[in-house]
Amino acid sequence: MTIYHETIIVGAGFAGICMGIKLREAGHQDLLILERNDAIGGTWYDNSYPGAACDVESHLYSFSFAPNPKWSRQFGPQQEILRYMDHCVSTYDLGDSIRLRSEVVSAAFEVSTGLWHITVSGGQEYTSRFFVSCSGGLSDPAYPGIKGIDTFGGKTFHSARWDHSYDYSGKRVAVIGTGASAIQIIPAIADRVKKLEVFQRTPAWVIPKPDKAISSFRKAMYEHLGFMRALYRWRLYWQHELMAIGFVVNPTLLRLFGKVAARHINRSVKDPVLRKKLMPSYVIGCKRILLSNDYYPALQKPNVSVMTEAISEINSGGVLTADGKQYDVDLIVLATGFQAAENVTRFAVKGLNGRDMNEAWQSGAEAYLGTTVSGFPNMFLVVGPNTGLGHSSMILMIEAQVGYIIQAIQQATQRSARYLDVKKQVQQDYNQKLQDELSRSVWQSGGCHSWYQNKDGKNVTLWPGFTFTFMKRTKHFEPDKYDWAVS
Ligand code: NAP
Repeated sequence: MTIYHETIIVGAGFAGICMGIKLREAGHQDLLILERNDAIGGTWYDNSYPGAACDVESHLYSFSFAPNPKWSRQFGPQQEILRYMDHCVSTYDLGDSIRLRSEVVSAAFEVSTGLWHITVSGGQEYTSRFFVSCSGGLSDPAYPGIKGIDTFGGKTFHSARWDHSYDYSGKRVAVIGTGASAIQIIPAIADRVKKLEVFQRTPAWVIPKPDKAISSFRKAMYEHLGFMRALYRWRLYWQHELMAIGFVVNPTLLRLFGKVAARHINRSVKDPVLRKKLMPSYVIGCKRILLSNDYYPALQKPNVSVMTEAISEINSGGVLTADGKQYDVDLIVLATGFQAAENVTRFAVKGLNGRDMNEAWQSGAEAYLGTTVSGFPNMFLVVGPNTGLGHSSMILMIEAQVGYIIQAIQQATQRSARYLDVKKQVQQDYNQKLQDELSRSVWQSGGCHSWYQNKDGKNVTLWPGFTFTFMKRTKHFEPDKYDWAVS
């Protein structure tokens, strides 16, 4: 039996939870959130690897409407973030509207009724008037196409699919990749493993992480003096916003960060050979700037080695590098990132005239305000194309998009519209300007290739500017940018 809801949301991560809470508050009670995992949390559920923690301060990386005065650290660990999300779900009574273990496999728009038909794995079908994809930019792991990877005789898993039933203590472990996930995993496991081989393709710029426990006094102050907590969040917000100047306005301003990071390497790494291996050759900020105090110390432990030779294959024993050296290991951790810029829809989406979204996005994903895609009426994306940030909390972008979508839904409801569809020209003009702005950014000119770009080098993931600019753009829904079908 097909189940109808006014709004169906995909994903119970930060975006889906925010969408659900705010829709309810706006009076739209009839909603359902479909979540593929066994629990809520999205990327914070998936990324349970040792050492997982946020790299944006928790007082900023949390909902503006649900402050948590009790964050234990500046940068909350993964379990605490999950608890915060659970707390939000129960505080806003959203639990009954979430269906777990319900992975959306397809969604198709029916023009005659203006309804979306959604199928989840297992075959259950749903219909909805509005369809909101909150399936996340970093939800599907990127597995490296290394020759022979399937022939490995030991254990392999991706950082975002950590197998906690496997005991890595005393084992020989290879970590492939040195991005944001790897630099948290390596220090967390180095002391417990027998040998840790780190395979680095491109070194990351790493700066010190201003992390520490938040004292009981500060927690009590934030709890009882709300304005002090708000002031702290405000300070964090502007600290992060300032960085956007370097990313998109004038990349030379990033030099200061470059100096801090170079000093961090020079001070932390004694061995000049290792120091050279770890020194990036691209402009800082081109790839995500990483924060860690324990990554460089971990790499210098006697049982840890950093390999920079390319991997030529994985065989039954372990990893073979291009210089002919074989590294036999028991476990290979693939800290190789996510399919962020390719295969952007996580499931088959068919819009007007049966057009497939991935087909529409052949030359790169694009949307209007990262939220609506021409030809896909009554559908909205949260954390859609070019809404990612290199400098601040994604929750700011999520809240801005959710506010915009709610206005769109309210307009459509008031007009009794069968559907609304963003005008093609509006989307094109918007993206032309966006790509012009991106072309001047460090992400395009900094001399690196990153997950921000698709295979053609087009940046389809990041917002080129301040978060307040995005908030301003999304503050008021503009009906004239849309085609309306009123039946
Ligand atoms: P990532 O930053 O994309 O890093 C992937 C790493 O794997 C890179 O070092 C990459 O090398 C390497 N790699 C990929 N394919 C390879 C191959 N075939 N052979 C050898 N090396 C290969 O992925 P991530 O570390 O999972 O982080 C992704 C994003 O998730 C971050 O940028 C961040 O936005 C988010 N994240 C956030 C947190 C946090 O808040 N704490 C933690 C983790 C992740 P190249 O650089 O040469 O491509």
